[in-house]
Amino acid sequence: MSKGDGATSARETAMTTHHPCGTCGIGSVVDAELRVFGVDGLRVADASVFPRITRSNTNAPAIMVGEKAADLLKLGKGVAIYDVRKPG
Ligand SMILES: Cc1cc2nc3c(=O)[nH]c(=O)nc-3n(C[C@H](O)[C@H](O)[C@H](O)COP(=O)(O)OP(=O)(O)OC[C@H]3O[C@@H](n4cnc5c(N)ncnc54)[C@H](O)[C@@H]3O)c2cc1C
Repeated sequence: MSKGDGATSARETAMTTHHPCGTCGIGSVVDAELRVFGVDGLRVADASVFPRITRSNTNAPAIMVGEKAADLLKLGKGVAIYDVRKPG
């Protein structure tokens, strides 16, 4: 198979394996607090905000993004957030 054949084959057959992410990456579509640039009152909180594709499964980091989003919303309303690193 020639190099050209390989590239064509890759384009025609490559696909994601259940882990699509990064289509609204932090820094390009949303800011560090998950707010969509240029749109008031809209945040994105799922795997699409990953700035880079993770090296492993995406479910746990997706949950972390959701937890962070919840904290950001609470802080925005003046609600204290629970810090699991602190006892009691
Ligand atoms: C078959 C399969 C197996 C997997 N196995 C694993 C695994 O073993 N371990 C692992 O870590 N990860 C696994 N994953 C990946 C993991 O499930 C995903 O990375 C994770 O669920 C992504 O979370 P998300 O919130 O970004 O997207 P999703 O979980 O896809 O949630 C997106 C949500 O947005 C909603 N939505 C879409 N469009 C709109 C709209 N216009 N308006 C309102 N709501 C909308 C959808 O209904 C959905 O509820 C697997 C995925 C698949 C498909």
